[in-house]
Amino acid sequence: MYTIAGIAIILSYYVIGAYATTDIIRLTGGNELSVLESSCYCPICHHRLKLTEQLPIFSYLFHRGRCAYCNSVIPLRELLFEITIFAIPSVIAFVLSFSYTALLVNIILYETFKLVYICIKGKRSQNFGKNLVLSVLTNIPVFLIQAFIYFLITLETHQ
Ligand SMILES: [Zn+2]
Repeated sequence: MYTIAGIAIILSYYVIGAYATTDIIRLTGGNELSVLESSCYCPICHHRLKLTEQLPIFSYLFHRGRCAYCNSVIPLRELLFEITIFAIPSVIAFVLSFSYTALLVNIILYETFKLVYICIKGKRSQNFGKNLVLSVLTNIPVFLIQAFIYFLITLETHQ
């Protein structure tokens, strides 16, 4: 039985989905904020978003795809990005029984997705190299924390 552990893994992919919106999108053109800046801002009115307005998928649906401050339409690709980065790794983790293989496959997919996304949207104009290094460096502790959750699952399934 790995129901609870499985939910923990799926939740961790939801958190990574939120993290990816700053980690990946800020490496692309039109962005100037550092990937280390944890606050999120409306891309149009630049109003700082509350934590409840940064929840992947739910915030978009709750506000019907609009900014709560300026009412601007948030591009649908933001929602698709959030769904993709959360759903695909979750399905892979489930199919591969929350094994270390799933962890590894998803890390490779995440970094590949980042590269492809940057290639499609174009690099940010300022400090791209520096932010890319910071991005990869912050990915390491994120995936280590996740590896620990996977480790807890191996304890639970080998009982
Ligand atoms: Zn706005």
